[in-house]
Amino acid sequence: MSEFNCECVSWARVHTDTYPISNHHPHCAKHKTEHFVKVGYDGRWCVVKPSEVHDFINSGDCIYTLTDIYLTIEQYENLPEFNGF
Ligand SMILES: [Zn+2]
Repeated sequence: MSEFNCECVSWARVHTDTYPISNHHPHCAKHKTEHFVKVGYDGRWCVVKPSEVHDFINSGDCIYTLTDIYLTIEQYENLPEFNGF
């Protein structure tokens, strides 16, 4: 069985969340998430690695909203390009 062909491919999914769909169903044993931080400002947002948050929020005078989120690596990599706040 390859990484993307496990039993979860037949499980129904609804793509309702804000982030790209994951390769595995969230209830699949192969669904592995990592900690990221969603940085929000003025209705817009981007996702950064926890180690990058400090540099990011220190680069401006704005008050950002920080939310801990958990995404798989492929979801993170498939996020839309961020063009700045
Ligand atoms: Zn799976």
